Amino acid sequence: FHYLMWFRRDLRVHDNTALAAICERANEDNAQLSAVFFLTPEQWQAHDMSLTQLDHIARTLPILAEKLHQLNIILTVQVCPSFTDCIVTLSALCESNNISCVMANHEYEGNEVARDELLTKQLANNEIEFIRWHDQCILPPKSITTNDDSMYQVFTPFYKKWRHTLEVSDIQIHTALAIIDNKQVNLTLSEHSANTTQDIEALCKKTVHDYQEYLQTHESYQNIDTDKQISQARLAYPAGEAEACHRLEHFIADDIDNYDVSRDVPSLQATSQLSTYLTIGAISPRLCYLQATQALGKLRRNDGDNFDSGDNNDINRWISELAWRDFYRHVLDYKPELIRHQAYKYETDKKINWSYDEDAFAAWREGKTGVPLVDAAMRCLNATGFMHNRLRMVTAMFLTKDLLIDWRWGERYFMQQLIDGDFASNNGGWQWSASTGTDSAPYFRIMNPFSQAKSHDTEGIFIKTWLPELKPIPTSILHREDKMRKALSKNGTFADIDYPVPIVEHKLARQLVIAEFKKE
Ligand code: FAD
Repeated sequence: FHYLMWFRRDLRVHDNTALAAICERANEDNAQLSAVFFLTPEQWQAHDMSLTQLDHIARTLPILAEKLHQLNIILTVQVCPSFTDCIVTLSALCESNNISCVMANHEYEGNEVARDELLTKQLANNEIEFIRWHDQCILPPKSITTNDDSMYQVFTPFYKKWRHTLEVSDIQIHTALAIIDNKQVNLTLSEHSANTTQDIEALCKKTVHDYQEYLQTHESYQNIDTDKQISQARLAYPAGEAEACHRLEHFIADDIDNYDVSRDVPSLQATSQLSTYLTIGAISPRLCYLQATQALGKLRRNDGDNFDSGDNNDINRWISELAWRDFYRHVLDYKPELIRHQAYKYETDKKINWSYDEDAFAAWREGKTGVPLVDAAMRCLNATGFMHNRLRMVTAMFLTKDLLIDWRWGERYFMQQLIDGDFASNNGGWQWSASTGTDSAPYFRIMNPFSQAKSHDTEGIFIKTWLPELKPIPTSILHREDKMRKALSKNGTFADIDYPVPIVEHKLARQLVIAEFKKE
């Protein structure tokens, strides 16, 4: 026999459900095992994948190839521009290599689901099995439902049930065993494929280079120094599962204790920064959950009978963030039309007269709105490919509420820039901010970006890092819209600073947007 492991968004060996399962079966059946990954540039373009994310994948693949080598498995990386090409190539690979079973981990987005369904049929016609495993979530879509078997519409009850289910289940790490006696069959190679670490590295580099060239013609990248963005992201996120696991351990050992209070301060690196790795599957969410619960368990032992599982706010809060990730995948699975730009609350979305003001959107995108926290956050995103969670909420609310611009524009721009861009979480975050989602922020609760700056960037450290031109302005002025307007105006104290006055008056914008949401 000859089996095939198809890697997608699960670029790791440790705790990879499909990989562990196919290794076990290959050993039982004395079968050969090969692995494949497809580079899909046309699909990335269609899905607005960011350059930093592609570069991260490209840096991860040679490391994965090495890891697989230790299990006696050869990884072949092949360019297959679109999902249609993947179906054709995979079917041909199976035929020419006598492969009788393919395994992969589930993906939940629309095109990916359609691709897999088509392939299942096609392979079945040739009596080839295509087995998919749930691996992307801690608890997979459809597994957490209300008592009458429907989807939770809000997060809190979902979380309660999710947590309870996990507490009574036996969550295991899946270990992939080396393939005994694997002849390490080389899959038939095409011109655009590679199967040695060196060749994979070269092919990946070329793919990143070509994608970068394509993006430079793209409007959303016109003001972005893509070389700088990539090098910042490389420095901040070294690739590979060992790095991701090290980060997790370090975070749990040293930083999680302050998570509940510090996680909202963007100038501190107080969050795990694991989303970048979770998104491409370089670390398993189960491992994150298990290590966090182990840390809770240690506290429980130290505290003897006095322990109440709810009393460690830091660890529990972090676990609840992992649950948000699962929640949004449940939501996407429940409402696949989200992938076609439809709002979760369709009726609310439809009645809003969203703006499509190109100039205001460009000001937001480029960090030139005159609202310091929003601009600093956008410039940080453009320079590094990452934005802190609190700032994602502030910038998304500013775009959708203060500027009343269609959330889909912002959602798309985030996908184009974020190194951790993930359809379900990004769509969920945007619709939360636009008040069109599941557990949305109520439309009347609108973040004031100046008060947000005062609460979460009190000393202005984050703002002044990304907007050095504002360094001379004291925080007593910086955090007040009225004072900033005055100080930056023609005869104001800081008139000589090259920084715009706020493009919109928050108080007025707030009234307008509330009226818009209230209308029948
Ligand atoms: P931590 O605070 O350490 O949290 C641990 C993990 O929990 C994260 O790595 C992430 O996987 C998950 N998580 C945390 N918060 C959320 C959340 N609100 N929703 C879903 N999962 C969460 N997250 C993405 O992974 N990809 C996106 O494309 C994305 N887009 C977003 C867009 C908007 C408008 C908003 C408001 C949020 C978005 N988020 C997205 C969620 C969140 O901002 C990031 O997951 C978080 O900032 C990542 O940093 P961290 O790994 O240090 O998180």
